[in-house]
Amino acid sequence: MVRYRGIAKSFGSLQVLNEIDLDIAPGEKVAVIGPSGSGKTTLGRMLVTLEKPTAGTIEVNGEQLWHKTVNGQLVLADDKHLHKVRGHVGMVFQQFNLFPHMSILKNVMEAPVHVLGIAKQEAKEQAAAMLDKVGLGQKLDNYPRQLSGGQQQRVAIARALVMRPKVMVFDEVTSALDPEMVGEVLAVLKEIAEEGNMTMLLITHEMAFASEVADRVIFMDGKIIEQGPPEQLFGNPQNPRTITFLSRFR
Ligand code: ATP
Repeated sequence: MVRYRGIAKSFGSLQVLNEIDLDIAPGEKVAVIGPSGSGKTTLGRMLVTLEKPTAGTIEVNGEQLWHKTVNGQLVLADDKHLHKVRGHVGMVFQQFNLFPHMSILKNVMEAPVHVLGIAKQEAKEQAAAMLDKVGLGQKLDNYPRQLSGGQQQRVAIARALVMRPKVMVFDEVTSALDPEMVGEVLAVLKEIAEEGNMTMLLITHEMAFASEVADRVIFMDGKIIEQGPPEQLFGNPQNPRTITFLSRFR
């Protein structure tokens, strides 16, 4: 489903990622943990083409996101091709980025209508159903400012899911929330994970959540340092850097 090969990424002289080889199987839930600045967000943003690798390739569903030109530069695949690939992958960010001047129903309908070209009435029904699924079926006409942070983040999740992506990147989606809101958002993610078919890349600082939901946990710090099933990575980490990192959460 997802394949990173030989991925490196620098911002100017700062090398952020190096030698990343990562395969994610269809339906697999992969949690990514690591220190601040270890490149987790950059890894996720590359999958939705918000960042371009300095070297390497990324494939989604057998389609390359970037192509190498004759002089060795990486360029994005052409529009028609990318449209297809992008439709497969969605991302939810730490900041919810909702449109403030639109009701939450309109927020969730926006992309199905304007990107997928779905008829308004149908998009409205799909958006309402998705908002209901994240527990906001009673708030359709509310504006983002009328909602709590946890509710706004659930709208952002509904907005991504309504596009029916095969792969979802969740980038520290609870980090900007007050502690009492974290549980409700994690519960929604857990429910999505338990449905089974969605491939998920979960960048998180919530170790208990990662342990419960992920099939595999990756500890990274610029490169993949160690990975394995949660019971192994959390219960019996091997690499000294993983051990030091995890000790902060005990
Ligand atoms: P955190 O857990 O704090 O969110 P992270 O592991 O997600 O961190 P990234 O956000 O991927 O880390 O950032 C990795 C490094 O790259 C950091 O040092 C960051 O400052 C740097 N960086 C990220 N984006 C840019 C950018 N657009 N320009 C310059 N440097 C950047």
